[in-house]
Amino acid sequence: MSTKGSCACGDIEYQFTGEPKVTALCHCIDCQKWTGGAFTSNAVVPRESFSVTKGKPNTWDAVGASGKINKHFFCPRCGSSLYTELEVMPDVTCVKAGGLDGGAASLGNKIDVEFYTKDRAGYLGASEGAKQEPQFG
Ligand SMILES: [Zn+2]
Ligand SMILES: [Zn+2]
Repeated sequence: MSTKGSCACGDIEYQFTGEPKVTALCHCIDCQKWTGGAFTSNAVVPRESFSVTKGKPNTWDAVGASGKINKHFFCPRCGSSLYTELEVMPDVTCVKAGGLDGGAASLGNKIDVEFYTKDRAGYLGASEGAKQEPQFG
Protein backbone atom coordinates (compact mmCIF):
# COMPACT_ATOMS: atom_id res chain seq x y z
CA MET A 1 0.00 0.00 0.00
CA SER A 2 1.32 3.45 -0.85
CA THR A 3 0.34 6.92 0.28
CA LYS A 4 0.66 9.67 -2.30
CA GLY A 5 1.21 13.38 -1.94
CA SER A 6 1.68 16.43 -4.13
CA CYS A 7 2.44 20.14 -4.04
CA ALA A 8 -0.18 22.83 -4.56
CA CYS A 9 0.57 23.35 -8.29
CA GLY A 10 0.97 19.65 -9.12
CA ASP A 11 4.51 19.82 -10.53
CA ILE A 12 5.79 17.57 -7.71
CA GLU A 13 4.37 14.21 -6.70
CA TYR A 14 5.76 11.75 -4.17
CA GLN A 15 4.78 8.66 -2.27
CA PHE A 16 5.73 6.35 0.56
CA THR A 17 4.90 2.72 1.16
CA GLY A 18 3.66 1.24 4.42
CA GLU A 19 2.58 3.04 7.56
CA PRO A 20 4.45 6.00 9.08
CA LYS A 21 6.82 5.01 11.89
CA VAL A 22 5.68 8.05 13.84
CA THR A 23 3.15 10.81 13.39
CA ALA A 24 4.35 14.09 14.84
CA LEU A 25 3.43 17.73 15.15
CA CYS A 26 6.26 20.22 15.33
CA HIS A 27 5.66 23.68 16.73
CA CYS A 28 9.21 25.02 16.32
CA ILE A 29 9.89 28.48 14.91
CA ASP A 30 11.56 26.98 11.83
CA CYS A 31 8.42 25.02 10.96
CA GLN A 32 6.27 28.11 11.50
CA LYS A 33 8.48 30.25 9.27
CA TRP A 34 8.87 27.65 6.55
CA THR A 35 5.20 26.82 6.18
CA GLY A 36 3.52 30.04 7.23
CA GLY A 37 1.42 27.99 9.64
CA ALA A 38 1.39 27.53 13.41
CA PHE A 39 2.99 24.07 13.21
CA THR A 40 3.80 21.22 10.84
CA SER A 41 2.15 17.81 10.87
CA ASN A 42 4.54 15.05 9.86
CA ALA A 43 4.42 11.46 8.68
CA VAL A 44 7.86 10.17 9.67
CA VAL A 45 8.62 7.33 7.25
CA PRO A 46 11.65 5.12 6.53
CA ARG A 47 13.75 6.97 3.94
CA GLU A 48 13.89 3.92 1.67
CA SER A 49 10.09 3.79 1.55
CA PHE A 50 9.86 7.37 0.27
CA SER A 51 10.30 8.51 -3.33
CA VAL A 52 9.59 11.52 -5.51
CA THR A 53 7.61 10.28 -8.53
CA LYS A 54 7.24 13.53 -10.49
CA GLY A 55 9.35 16.69 -10.77
CA LYS A 56 12.40 17.74 -8.80
CA PRO A 57 12.09 19.59 -5.49
CA ASN A 58 14.42 22.41 -4.56
CA THR A 59 16.23 22.31 -1.24
CA TRP A 60 17.19 24.70 1.48
CA ASP A 61 19.40 23.90 4.46
CA ALA A 62 18.85 25.11 7.99
CA VAL A 63 21.14 24.38 10.91
CA GLY A 64 19.09 22.76 13.67
CA ALA A 65 19.48 23.18 17.43
CA SER A 66 21.77 20.11 17.25
CA GLY A 67 24.17 22.01 14.99
CA LYS A 68 23.39 19.51 12.21
CA ILE A 69 21.81 20.20 8.84
CA ASN A 70 18.05 20.05 8.44
CA LYS A 71 17.39 19.82 4.69
CA HIS A 72 14.08 21.29 3.50
CA PHE A 73 12.54 20.18 0.19
CA PHE A 74 10.01 22.40 -1.56
CA CYS A 75 8.40 22.91 -4.95
CA PRO A 76 10.45 25.35 -7.07
CA ARG A 77 7.31 26.63 -8.79
CA CYS A 78 4.62 27.02 -6.10
CA GLY A 79 6.81 26.91 -2.99
CA SER A 80 4.85 24.21 -1.17
CA SER A 81 6.73 22.76 1.82
CA LEU A 82 7.08 19.06 0.99
CA TYR A 83 9.38 17.21 3.39
CA THR A 84 12.53 17.46 5.47
CA GLU A 85 15.52 15.18 5.95
CA LEU A 86 17.50 15.69 9.15
CA GLU A 87 21.16 14.85 9.45
CA VAL A 88 20.42 13.70 13.01
CA MET A 89 17.82 11.19 11.74
CA PRO A 90 19.48 9.73 8.61
CA ASP A 91 17.06 6.80 8.27
CA VAL A 92 13.80 8.72 7.95
CA THR A 93 12.03 11.33 5.86
CA CYS A 94 9.64 13.75 7.57
CA VAL A 95 6.80 14.18 5.08
CA LYS A 96 4.74 17.32 5.69
CA ALA A 97 1.31 15.75 5.97
CA GLY A 98 -0.61 18.70 4.53
CA GLY A 99 0.55 17.62 1.08
CA LEU A 100 -0.82 14.10 1.35
CA ASP A 101 -3.73 13.27 -0.91
CA GLY A 102 -6.93 11.29 -0.54
CA GLY A 103 -7.62 12.24 3.08
CA ALA A 104 -4.21 11.09 4.35
CA ALA A 105 -3.36 14.65 5.44
CA SER A 106 -5.23 13.99 8.70
CA LEU A 107 -2.73 11.24 9.61
CA GLY A 108 -5.66 9.12 10.71
CA ASN A 109 -6.34 11.71 13.42
CA LYS A 110 -3.73 9.96 15.56
CA ILE A 111 -0.66 11.99 16.63
CA ASP A 112 2.07 10.10 18.49
CA VAL A 113 4.19 13.02 19.64
CA GLU A 114 4.38 16.81 19.63
CA PHE A 115 7.77 18.54 19.50
CA TYR A 116 8.69 22.07 20.58
CA THR A 117 5.55 22.50 22.64
CA LYS A 118 7.41 25.43 24.26
CA ASP A 119 6.80 27.32 21.01
CA ARG A 120 3.19 26.13 20.54
CA ALA A 121 0.68 28.90 19.83
CA GLY A 122 -1.42 29.67 22.90
CA TYR A 123 -4.69 29.08 21.04
CA LEU A 124 -3.77 25.43 20.36
CA GLY A 125 -4.29 22.65 22.87
CA ALA A 126 -2.33 19.41 23.19
CA SER A 127 -3.42 16.65 20.83
CA GLU A 128 -5.10 13.97 22.92
CA GLY A 129 -2.81 11.04 23.65
CA ALA A 130 0.28 12.63 22.08
CA LYS A 131 3.55 12.61 23.99
CA GLN A 132 4.54 16.20 24.78
CA GLU A 133 8.15 17.23 24.18
CA PRO A 134 9.12 20.83 25.10
CA GLN A 135 11.91 20.65 22.50
CA PHE A 136 13.12 17.87 20.24
CA GLY A 137 13.34 14.44 21.88
ZN1 LIG B 1 4.24 23.06 -6.94
ZN1 LIG C 1 9.78 22.05 13.60
